[in-house]
This record gives sequence, C-alpha cells and structure tokens, in this order.
Amino acid sequence: MSSSSNLFLLLSLASFAAFFFFFSSTPSASAFPFPFPGAPSPFTNPWLPFQNLSGCHRGDNRTGLADLKDYLSRFGYLPTANFTDAFDEALEEALKTYQQNFGLNATGSLDDSTVSQLIIPRCGVADIINGTSSMRSAKLPGRNLYAYFPGSPTWPSWKRDLTYALVSTSAVSIDTSALRTVFARAFGRWAAATTLTFTESDSVSDADIQIGFYSGDHGDGEPFDGVLGTLAHAFSPTDGRFHLDAAEQWVADGDVTQASSNVAVDLESVAVHEIGHLLGLGHSSVEEAIMYPTIKTKTKKVELASDDVEGIQNLYGSNPNYTGAVPTTSSRESDSSDGGLGMMGVGWGRVVGLCLAGAAVGFLVL
Ligand SMILES: [Zn+2]
Ligand SMILES: [Zn+2]
Repeated sequence: MSSSSNLFLLLSLASFAAFFFFFSSTPSASAFPFPFPGAPSPFTNPWLPFQNLSGCHRGDNRTGLADLKDYLSRFGYLPTANFTDAFDEALEEALKTYQQNFGLNATGSLDDSTVSQLIIPRCGVADIINGTSSMRSAKLPGRNLYAYFPGSPTWPSWKRDLTYALVSTSAVSIDTSALRTVFARAFGRWAAATTLTFTESDSVSDADIQIGFYSGDHGDGEPFDGVLGTLAHAFSPTDGRFHLDAAEQWVADGDVTQASSNVAVDLESVAVHEIGHLLGLGHSSVEEAIMYPTIKTKTKKVELASDDVEGIQNLYGSNPNYTGAVPTTSSRESDSSDGGLGMMGVGWGRVVGLCLAGAAVGFLVL
C-alpha cells in the first residue's frame, strides 16, 4: 500500500471517529445516531414518524394518524379496528386519557409534549385492559388505587419461594454470568420488600419464571419491533413468561448514562419493571414508580418507589426487615384539578378486564 493510500485511510478513520464521537455524545434521550448525514440510520425508532403528526387536532386528516391509532389501540386506549387517517372524536378522547395517564395536559390534541412522550421506548404491556383505566378515576387526592390484573392474580400463598431460569439468551451477546448478576439483583429488589424469595434454577422446565431474549415474532402474538419501541413484556401470575427484545442495545454492566450508543437501554431497569408484572402489578401513572410504562434511553431506574412497595406489599405482605423505598414524589395531598401534574401522585390505576386468551395464558402486560 502506498503512503498516499495510507494517509487516505487514516483520514477516513479519523473522520469516522469524529462523526461517531459527536453523535454518540449528544446528551439527548430521544436522539438517535445517524453516523453519516444522509445515510440511513442503523437504528430506527418505530415511533419516530409520530413527530410528523405534531400539531394535529380533531378535524385534521394526515397520513400517519392511522398508525397512531394502532399504537393507542395496542396499549388499550382504543378498541381494535381498521383505522383511517382521520382525527376523529374517538382519537381525541383516547389522547385525553393517554395524556392524563402520563401527567400531561389533557388537550386531546397532538401537542409537542404528547408527541415526545409517545416516542419514548416502553413496556409492551397495555396501560388499559378491556377499556377500563383507573388512572383516571384515581385523581382523588390521598388515595392509592393499586393496579392489578383482572381478578388480581398472584402467586399462591403456598408458593412464595419462586424459581427462575434463563431459557433463551443466544440472541444477545451479553455474557451469561453478567446476565445472571443483573437478574439476581433485579429479583432481589422485590424480595427485599416482601417475603418472596427468588432462586435461579438450572431446570428450565421446572422454573416458575422463564426469561428469554427474542426477535420479532416469537410465537405469543406480541412480536417485538426492533431497536426501541417496545423493549420487553411479561405475563401476569402464574404464567411466568418474561420476554425481552433481543434487538435492543442492552447494557448489563457499567454506567448506562455513559454508554456510547444513544439507544442504549439499561437491562436491570427493565428487568425490575417486568418482574413487577410477573408478580401481579399493572402500570402506574406515578412517574417515579418502577411500574411507570416508559423509560428513556441511557437511563437507570432500579429503585422501588413507595408506590411500587405499597402495591406489592398489598399483594404479598411486607418484609419486616425492609428499610423502606425511595420516597415517591407525590402530589397526593395537593388539590390538583387539571388532570395534569396532579396525576403524578395518584398511585395505581385499577386494571379491570378479561383475559383475551383465557385463564391459562395469563395477561400480557408491558
Ligand atoms: Zn413475548
Ligand atoms: Zn410494563
């Protein structure tokens, strides 16, 4: 190789490194790396096109609104249907409920803050099951309304020492011992607050909880969607299935906030959330709670908030040695009538509904 081609190679590498450094260090949770301007991004947030809908309101007709309706339907805000791109009254009502559940002003239109919330990666479990949301009725100050699955399924009283197994990890490159450490720590956070215990089992068939990483369609009717979008889902007691999207840039070790990838997702944070579902908890509208449905990229959130602890102890009792949870920043005592920030302190919404697939499969929650 001649010296001029060596120089060219060096310059090419340097420019690539400069681009990579610039884009990977952009401190924005919703930013996505585009290594070269004009080049297709290697990562595509499936919900990024919702940004094109910003400013839409009732009466509008814009391409992409049907996709937004599919999204809202998926998470329980609209009944399933063949949707059109018309911004109708049903969409307006669905958006108001969504906005209330996420502590936003219930405008019923696609303002910037609502669009920003819509595209944050989240759990695949629905917020509303069978059309009923207690997050809305939970605006009463000073009350906790815990969200459980329909019928409040739990692990039975004779089975409080649960086992779990890693059943499918080949789709991710994370070292198995690192995975074991992360999941043990995540289960330990729930064990600390209750009298439940969790032990890893080598026997996949006998384990109460089966953890696996999967890509796309993996046989349970809830296909994963690649990088970002939905991150994971888990089923209600006593199903035991806990699935993670193998396409995510999972961070199992180290400080996720310093990750080089802007689409990095903290594995332990998601694991703690999904274990909450495996134990019987639904989604909370309390932003500080582990059971809040969304988590931003490059964010670590692993401590149970008081809202989570109250929810789980109401199901399984408390651990006398538990030293307490992270205080939940709450406006419970405040008199909020705007349906916005006041929603942050309402605790659990009651999830009422029927299991679509029958009792044997349990409820799928994100
Ligand atoms: Zn699944
Ligand atoms: Zn969830």
